[in-house]
Amino acid sequence: MTQLREVDIVVVGAGPAGLAAALACGRAGAETLLVDFMDAPGGQLIKQTHKFFGSERQYAGTRGVQIPEIFFKELSEMPNVKMMWGTNAAGYYEDGTLALEDGQRFFKVKPKRVILATGAAEKSLAFENNDLPGVYGAGAVQTLMNVHGVEPGKRVLMVGSGNIGLIVSYQLLQAGVHVQCVVEAAPKIGGYLVHAAKLRRAGVPILTSHTILRAAGKDCVEGADIAKVDANWQPVPGTERRIDCDVICLAVGLTPLVDVLWQAGCEMVYVPALGGHVPLRDHSMRTSNPRIYVAGDAGGVEEASSAMITGEIAGISAAASIGMMPAGAQERLNQLIADLAAIRSGPTGEKICYGISCATVRGGAW
Ligand SMILES: Cc1cc2nc3c(=O)[nH]c(=O)nc-3n(C[C@H](O)[C@H](O)[C@H](O)COP(=O)(O)OP(=O)(O)OC[C@H]3O[C@@H](n4cnc5c(N)ncnc54)[C@H](O)[C@@H]3O)c2cc1C
Repeated sequence: MTQLREVDIVVVGAGPAGLAAALACGRAGAETLLVDFMDAPGGQLIKQTHKFFGSERQYAGTRGVQIPEIFFKELSEMPNVKMMWGTNAAGYYEDGTLALEDGQRFFKVKPKRVILATGAAEKSLAFENNDLPGVYGAGAVQTLMNVHGVEPGKRVLMVGSGNIGLIVSYQLLQAGVHVQCVVEAAPKIGGYLVHAAKLRRAGVPILTSHTILRAAGKDCVEGADIAKVDANWQPVPGTERRIDCDVICLAVGLTPLVDVLWQAGCEMVYVPALGGHVPLRDHSMRTSNPRIYVAGDAGGVEEASSAMITGEIAGISAAASIGMMPAGAQERLNQLIADLAAIRSGPTGEKICYGISCATVRGGAW
């Protein structure tokens, strides 16, 4: 262990939420340390080559992969902001010490505030043979294609019709991979219809009320058996059929990465609408541990636009809580709260709004 280093605010995770949080802390004049265990900033954005949907103020129309550069440029010019890549936040202790490790050494930091913007992990699905090579999460398929330029296979069965399943299916088509069909257990498509329409125009069937039963193959995926499901999501006898594929891609949701929040003793609640366990927080994104703020998917799985907004709210609020509130910060907070409400106001926002109400402390303030 090296000597304990004191700093105003540590932001863990440099996805859209962490980048926005660090920028807000930096602008407020706080000594800020931004860490991420990846080698570069961006989080999920580094593999998102498509133009973003969402709100214009949060870079809608810009390719996801270009957004981190915009933040990084401004952060690099701030003398009060330090960034560490390849660095994992490995533990948080009762006395407020955060342990960081870079693969070779442990560092101890004693921040006045910590903003946890650790994102989310992909969920899997239980079915026969789901451990065969060729069964991938959608994030892994995106990383193979968009970061490393590697084709995951030739014929894909996509499981899940949320935005991620639809977007990754379209990216597979663009890469010349055949998408046999998308299966979706719910009776209707989960993602935006604009993405579904692109797939349908390209001739990809989207089979709602269908599920995967098993992966076929001995050493790797050689096919998949699917079937129709009834209103209780049980397979309907006699509807089973084989899909010819060498990749089964699972896009069945994400769950918040909250290990450090548990370690910090934050009060947690289980909210299925937000993807799993999330910390109880107030409107400023402060958790029940007054030193800890949460931002982005770690506080509930949404999308990059809301991650940037909750990140900035957490950044401004964490800095304000240690006496750093620059002129105009309150007006900016009001604007961000309005933007967030607008993003969550559509029909797809209903579930999120319900989830947020379950995860927010009564009355909105501790
Ligand atoms: C295929 C796909 C398409 C999408 N398309 C869109 C879209 O068009 N529009 C939109 O708004 N959203 C989209 N999203 C959603 C969006 O990417 C996420 O909601 C957003 O990235 C969440 O941001 P975040 O900062 O909370 O987390 P992430 O982007 O996941 O970043 C979290 C970061 O934390 C780091 N980290 C985690 N734990 C630790 C630790 N202990 N120590 C150090 N670092 C750590 C990770 O390395 C990562 O860099 C898409 C997502 C996917 C998968």
